[in-house]
Amino acid sequence: MSQIQTDPPPAPAVHEPAPPPRIVIVGGGAGGLELATRLGHRLGRRGHAEVTLVDASLTHLWKPLLHEVASGTLDSQDDEVSFLAHAKRHHFRFQLGTMAGLDRARRTLLLAAIDDEDGHIMIPGRELPYDKLIVAIGSVSNDFGVEGVREHCLFLDSREQADRFQHIFLTHFIKAQTQAVPPGEGQMKVALIGGGATGVELAAELHHVSRLLVAYGFDRIVPERDLKLVLIEAAERLVPAVPERISQIAERELRRIGVEVHTGTLVTRITREGVETRNGVCFPARFKVWTAGIRAPCFLSTLGLQTNRSGQLMVRPTLQSVDDDDVFAIGDCAACPSGVGTTILPPTAQAAHQQALLLARSLAGQVRKGRPLEAFQFVNLGGFVSLGGHTATGTLMGNLLGKVAATLIIEGWLARFTYRLLYRKHQWAIHGGVRTVLMVLTDWATRRGRARLKLH
Ligand SMILES: Cc1cc2nc3c(=O)[nH]c(=O)nc-3n(C[C@H](O)[C@H](O)[C@H](O)COP(=O)(O)OP(=O)(O)OC[C@H]3O[C@@H](n4cnc5c(N)ncnc54)[C@H](O)[C@@H]3O)c2cc1C
Repeated sequence: MSQIQTDPPPAPAVHEPAPPPRIVIVGGGAGGLELATRLGHRLGRRGHAEVTLVDASLTHLWKPLLHEVASGTLDSQDDEVSFLAHAKRHHFRFQLGTMAGLDRARRTLLLAAIDDEDGHIMIPGRELPYDKLIVAIGSVSNDFGVEGVREHCLFLDSREQADRFQHIFLTHFIKAQTQAVPPGEGQMKVALIGGGATGVELAAELHHVSRLLVAYGFDRIVPERDLKLVLIEAAERLVPAVPERISQIAERELRRIGVEVHTGTLVTRITREGVETRNGVCFPARFKVWTAGIRAPCFLSTLGLQTNRSGQLMVRPTLQSVDDDDVFAIGDCAACPSGVGTTILPPTAQAAHQQALLLARSLAGQVRKGRPLEAFQFVNLGGFVSLGGHTATGTLMGNLLGKVAATLIIEGWLARFTYRLLYRKHQWAIHGGVRTVLMVLTDWATRRGRARLKLH
């Protein structure tokens, strides 16, 4: 009897679960860090997705604090957040790296090599695969092609630049205090080019700090005589992005404290000696600070995705790139429709925060429940301009006060208090309520026993 060979019965089909999607967020700033934190809790914690944050730096500092770092009223180390520690606590991964390109066909992010202090390659360039990529790399100063800006101006784009400014400013005070002859006129003349929120806030903060420095022993310096602050703005009014009444209050306050304000003045060239304008006026200045506007980092225009004139990635209301469903952009680097005509949202921390909030909910809904992505709608809650020391001005929009569509203009200590709340709100979003309350208490306790200025 011949035996009939039969195939072994097929093994029961093992249903391999699909690997969790890889969500990569590039840029841990006002928008990106909040998004990573929220997605870490919603998806990373239970393995619904693998959430990775990539940043060029190891720490986060909320960017609207940079003028305080530059003036020395805030020590950047006190308020920075370690990405590695934060990632562990909030269920996402962190990778140090600078986005340098994108291979969309292979859904792979390209990270530049990292050099050591001697310029040798320490970590070679890497690739990072993704299923969803969120670009949140913020913005850099836009020099609008004006001659001499890169060579002669200081900037406030990063914590390092703000720290450098603080160091230079303090060193010049020390020089003026210790030199054999009294400080000469113009020795400490600062020209701020750009009268948006950053320029206005920095001018007011520098004025405030110069008085504090005198109290800390720089008694040979008479700030009214020796420190000259000049603010130059091309538009007809300061902080063009806020209601006119706020601009008027800001200008009135700056003039009151002695800042020279020039609106409607277009800067055409920066030299070692000073600032030249289209109407032929030259402002001599020892320091030139460029705060005249921002653009997205240049390499974004080389990714094959549509960008606008400021280099921002064009996105749909779902915050997806107009060219690629798997690439999203939020914050300053995104050209997001404002919902009013064809205009796009101005670059603010408020917009970055709201976009992070929506995208965390929207992506979590898509990954976990297969829901369609939600459309972003900006809700303007108002805006504030800090005017140094204990004062500020700004608007609270009706949405914050309930359903009433009203705009309330406030100034003085109440505005300053509300302005400080914006930072606490950011801390709340990334650390949660309990830790934020503890941080407020710790700040209050430690700052009372410390110098009111960074003096090193
Ligand atoms: C002095 C000052 C005051 C301001 N005041 C206010 C205010 O009062 N209210 C307000 O709403 N807005 C204010 N702004 C604007 C606000 O700071 C920005 O709109 C906001 O920070 C944008 O958030 P973002 O997440 O897009 O980018 P950012 O917060 O700038 O974060 C970008 C992150 O990306 C990282 N990064 C950059 N390039 C790369 C790369 N190639 N690869 C990897 N990582 C990268 C950076 O290290 C950074 O961590 C102020 C800005 C300044 C400078």
